Amino acid sequence: MVKMVQKLIERLERKDWPEILAIQTTALRAIADYMRLNDIPQVMPILLSPITDPLSHSVFDAEIEYYKQRLQLTKSITVHKPLMLMGALSSFFCMSPNIRLEKEEKQHSRRHLVEFTQVEMEFKEYDKYKFMEFVEGLVKFVIMRVKEECKDELKKLGRNLSYPKERFPVYESSDLEKLHGVDFDDKLSKLSDKPFWILSFKREFYDKEDKQVKGYYHNYDLIWPEGFGEALSGGEREHKYEDVIRKMKERKMDMTPYEAYLEILRSGKVPSTAGGGLGIERLIRFLTGKVDIDQITMFPRKPGQEMLM
Ligand code: AMP
Ligand code: MG
Repeated sequence: MVKMVQKLIERLERKDWPEILAIQTTALRAIADYMRLNDIPQVMPILLSPITDPLSHSVFDAEIEYYKQRLQLTKSITVHKPLMLMGALSSFFCMSPNIRLEKEEKQHSRRHLVEFTQVEMEFKEYDKYKFMEFVEGLVKFVIMRVKEECKDELKKLGRNLSYPKERFPVYESSDLEKLHGVDFDDKLSKLSDKPFWILSFKREFYDKEDKQVKGYYHNYDLIWPEGFGEALSGGEREHKYEDVIRKMKERKMDMTPYEAYLEILRSGKVPSTAGGGLGIERLIRFLTGKVDIDQITMFPRKPGQEMLM
């Protein structure tokens, strides 16, 4: 314990917090400005819900009981997002804090925390290409601002951040897997000097599967270059009741907690949407050039590690 406290003291006393936080402040303001310029309103996050993102990998549930109801701390608000566009709203963004009690095998990934924040975005009637174009604009805007406004901080951190002028390359996951094996995203990230997209992953029920080509998904990941790995995941969404039921059955999901959600889908009033979530801590890690995500948060929150504070 004494040793752990000593390490925490050393961490809190680190000299580079002003530079890291100046870059973070600039990036967060750039995100808000970009959204405002594009007329995209900000909604407040949802922290508790009887349903949350089932995720496509296993984590421990963070549940509490409240007046005999089981509530979960949200792992993401993806299930809620298309429902928020049923009325006059055509898009929104949200700074969404998430609790994901990741398993300890993620402890050394250098990009997982059990508590992090995503910029969640969702757009009515968008397809994946429109969403990807929007995100590229956002990423370029943020990098430009940080390069302009944080020259001294980047220099002090020894970070040579380059501005990606061109459109980001787009790859199919199946092609990359053939070339690089299962961890194709990490391998290509190490070889790349600009962000890139990967299309089509089999994952949660809510990402749209092609109507003709079974097993082709209209979803995507944005990958940071220089070995920083995954930045954003998202997709076009399944919004039709029958498709959602079929995919939940395929995934052998317990539908009981989803009763209200399914009833809303059954009304046929949920629009077609596309969106995604960009990890803030991973963005700051990339911008500052810190190798481990743990280096940009003041209090350790690594999977499987004891929390002191
Ligand atoms: P997902 O849809 O699960 O891929 O999450 C969206 C984004 O949130 C990811 O692309 C990451 O940038 C970020 N993210 C997801 N899980 C974590 C985690 N455990 N720690 C930090 N960031 C995360
Ligand atoms: Mg992902």
